[in-house]
This record gives sequence, structure tokens and C-alpha cells, in this order.
Amino acid sequence: MSIKTISYGAETDVLVIGGGLAGLCAAIEAADGGAEVTLLEKLNECGGSSVLSGGLIAFSGTDMQKAAGIDDSDTQLYDDLRRAGGQQNVEALVRTYVANQMGAYEWLKEIGTQFISVELAAGHSRPRAHSLRAIEFMALMEQRVRDTGKVKIIFGAAAERLHRPLEGGRVEGVAARINGKATNIRARRGVVLAAGGFARNAEMVNLFVPHQAKCVVYCGPGCDGDGVRMAWALGAGLRDVVHIKGTFGFHPDTGKTAGRDWSKHSVYRGAILVNKQAKRYVDESKSYKLLGDAVLTQTDALSYQIFDQGVMETSSDTAPLFKFREALALGRLLSEPTLEALAKRIGVDAATLTATVDRYNGFVRCGNDEEFGRTGLSTGYGELVELKRGPWYAYPSTSGLIATYCGITVDTESRVIDVFGQPIQSLYAAGEMTGGFHGVAYMTGSSLGKCVIFGRIAGCNAAAATAS
Ligand SMILES: Cc1cc2nc3c(=O)[nH]c(=O)nc-3n(C[C@H](O)[C@H](O)[C@H](O)COP(=O)(O)OP(=O)(O)OC[C@H]3O[C@@H](n4cnc5c(N)ncnc54)[C@H](O)[C@@H]3O)c2cc1C
Repeated sequence: MSIKTISYGAETDVLVIGGGLAGLCAAIEAADGGAEVTLLEKLNECGGSSVLSGGLIAFSGTDMQKAAGIDDSDTQLYDDLRRAGGQQNVEALVRTYVANQMGAYEWLKEIGTQFISVELAAGHSRPRAHSLRAIEFMALMEQRVRDTGKVKIIFGAAAERLHRPLEGGRVEGVAARINGKATNIRARRGVVLAAGGFARNAEMVNLFVPHQAKCVVYCGPGCDGDGVRMAWALGAGLRDVVHIKGTFGFHPDTGKTAGRDWSKHSVYRGAILVNKQAKRYVDESKSYKLLGDAVLTQTDALSYQIFDQGVMETSSDTAPLFKFREALALGRLLSEPTLEALAKRIGVDAATLTATVDRYNGFVRCGNDEEFGRTGLSTGYGELVELKRGPWYAYPSTSGLIATYCGITVDTESRVIDVFGQPIQSLYAAGEMTGGFHGVAYMTGSSLGKCVIFGRIAGCNAAAATAS
């Protein structure tokens, strides 16, 4: 058995890696539990993917739902999470989420979180996505961390390796690079990994889901999979990595311009989808995750959402997915007075595009989509509309990877579990980098929810651990 001697430049009780939502929640709980905490964030600000998010969090049985007459329960939430996960998510983790979600909701409100509305979202059998403004929310959470007076946040500080001097023993700290300078930091009670997903790590995406590698990427700039790899290197197990999926409706230039990027979903307002051959290739009412898979099989992984002025008139000024007018103003949504001119603009055959739209309109009139069996705007819901009134619009679309939602195996105490089912001592993980909770698919709002719930558990447990 080998023992390495490491010289440490600094020491703390609990060391948190990552300043996204999971890391901030862990830091607050660890500090409130009486620990001295150091939080390393490799960028120069906190936020990660959390601050870019749509700000929807899944809770059930809340006062907001009750006020809106929405009948929801822990049982419904549990069933929906399990159904979305194809019954392949770890039951105990889902139960832990459900058991702690109301406490998490109240805790966030006590901190001052302003929930705005309750929305129906993907995978929900009733409206339960509690919306908030992610930028304000993350600023509030960071302030709450600072208000503890016990957390030292260090920016420009990338954790690089975990230190476990005794093979099979406890994790003692990390090797980090702070503003370019290598140092070792010791954690007396525990290390909490909360370093987010790995959507930006093309090698890892290619390893687990090569068919998703053509996705454009839109997520926090630090989503390189550092946390997953550090724990993996110590023998941590992995879960759900084969289920990573992109989201349909991202412009191929996503991430190339400043500002926030969102997918556009005009298909759920009546648009059709055509490929570079100007042909439909899928039932457009399917879930955006399945549409994401479908577009990746088309030439150049590219398609166009084609619609007319009637669909354009459903444009929203508030819901990002339906802000068609804004997309037009930004030059991403293309428009021409005639369908022929639009075909020319996007470089597809005009006669074929016209025939595709005419054929589709025929299906709408007779109520039978002979080609792909589309029966509604979204998953069988909503009346289909004929596309016939110019001007005409085309939104170039592909699939975008915004999160990986999978990774390191953890138990209900947020302890990292190794490939043999044993906890790795003094090592905790929370947030997007953990696997097992979502199973085959993520239910909207459950990723931010998982950050809060399991981040809190990780912070509490690390603070309560015996110091060494
Ligand atoms: C556009 C978009 C919309 C979304 N909308 C929703 C939604 O509405 N609801 C929902 O539930 N989920 C949503 N998600 C997913 C959700 O936002 C993320 O899964 C979640 O925020 C991840 O939080 P996290 O704390 O685990 O990681 P992050 O928020 O990504 O934080 C991780 C932090 O760790 C830092 N870090 C990484 N490596 C290191 C290192 N080596 N050393 C130190 N620091 C490191 C990163 O820089 C980052 O700041 C969305 C995601 C995106 C991109």
C-alpha cells in the first residue's frame, strides 16, 4: 500500500468545487452547519450553466400551485420523474428528491427567491415548473453564501486532481491552479464536487454518445467535465451517460454571438420541418428531444422550420422559445414574400419546397398526415394549421447540447460511490455532474431542483463529518 506525502498551501473544513447552483447550495449548508468553507470557481465569476438556464424548477404541492387551483402531490411528482426517466432512474434518488423538495422550496423562499409563475413543461402531468429569473436568482444565492461570513470564494481557481494519499482511503484535498499557480488545498471534513456537466468536452461526448457529437453546444463556459473526470480517476462509477440528448431548434450559429441563445419551437405553433432536400422527415409534434435526434440524421444535421404569416402572428414577446419577431430582428429568422424566394434564400429546390407545403396542407385539410402521422401541434395537442399566407419564414435549426444530466454515481447522502458500490470516503458530489437521478431523460425543472436538493445534502453531510 502506497502513501503519498502532499504539501498543502491552504486548509479548510469543506472544499466546494464549482460556483454554480449546486456548489452555492452546498457552501451555504456547510457554512450554516458550522464549517469553514472554501469554494473554488475556475472562472472569474459564479453562475455556470445555472445562470444561463430557463429558471424552471420542479416542485409539487406548493402554495403557488394551490393558489392557481393546481392539484399536485408528491406521488404525482414521483411518478412523473420515474416516467420521464423510463423507470431507469435510481428509485432512492428520486424518493430523496421528492422527500426534500418542499423543504427546498421553502428554503429558497426564505432566502428571498421570487418565483414568478407555475408552468406546464415537458414531462409534467400538471403545471409544476416554478419559474424565476436565473440571473437575479444566482446573484441572490451568491450573496447568501457571502452573508454566512464563513465561505471564502476564490475565482480563477481550477481544481485539477483529487488527493487521496492512501489508496482506498479518504479524499484529503485537491491539487488546484489558482490564477495559473499550482497549489494544494486540504479539506479537513470533505470535498464537494459541484463542477457541472461536460457538454463542452467533445472527447467525452464522443466517447459516450458519438451520434450526439454533431450538436451545437450552449451551456456554461466551464462545462468541461473536470469534476466527472476527477472522481472517475478515483474509481467512481458512472450512470446514464448513454442517454445524453440534444434539444432541437437551435440555430447552427448558436454560441458564436454574444448574448443568450435559445432554441426556437415554431413547430409547436404549426410550422413544418424540411431538410436540405426540401422534404419533411419527421412528425413535427414530437418532443424536442426526439426532434433533436431526428435532425442529426439529416444532411449536415440541418433542417429548416418553415412557416407562414399565420404562425408568425403567434410570436411571443416573453416566452423565449416563441420569440419569432425577435429572431427576425436578430437576422436569424429568414423571411421572403413568397415561398419560391424563401427556397432560393435557404438554397433548397423551390419546386420541391412548394410541393412539400402543398402536400402538407392537403393532409391538414383531410385530417390525415399520410407521411408522418402528425395529429397535433405538440404531442397530439392543438389544431394543425394550413400554411398559405405570406410572407414566409425559415428558421435554420439543428440540435443543441445544453446539459449532460449524467455522470458520477452518488447515493442519497450525496456521497460518491465507486465502481464496486462503496463510498469514496470524504468525497461528495451534486448537481449536473451526478448520474442516476434522471435515467433515460430529464424532466423539465428537475436539474435545478436536483442542484438545490442534493447540493444542500452534500454541504450538510460534509460539514457534519469528523475532521481529520
Ligand atoms: C440554456 C439552458 C437552459 C436550462 N434550463 C433549465 C431549466 O429551466 N430548468 C432546469 O432544471 N435545468 C435547466 N438547465 C440545466 C441546468 O441549468 C443545469 O443542469 C444546472 O444549472 C447545473 O448546475 P450545476 O451547479 O451542477 O453546474 P453549473 O451551474 O454549470 O456550475 C458548475 C460550476 O463549476 C465550475 N467549474 C467547472 N470545473 C471546475 C474546476 N475544475 N474547478 C473549479 N470550478 C469548476 C464552472 O465554471 C461552473 O461555474 C438549462 C441549461 C441551459 C444551458
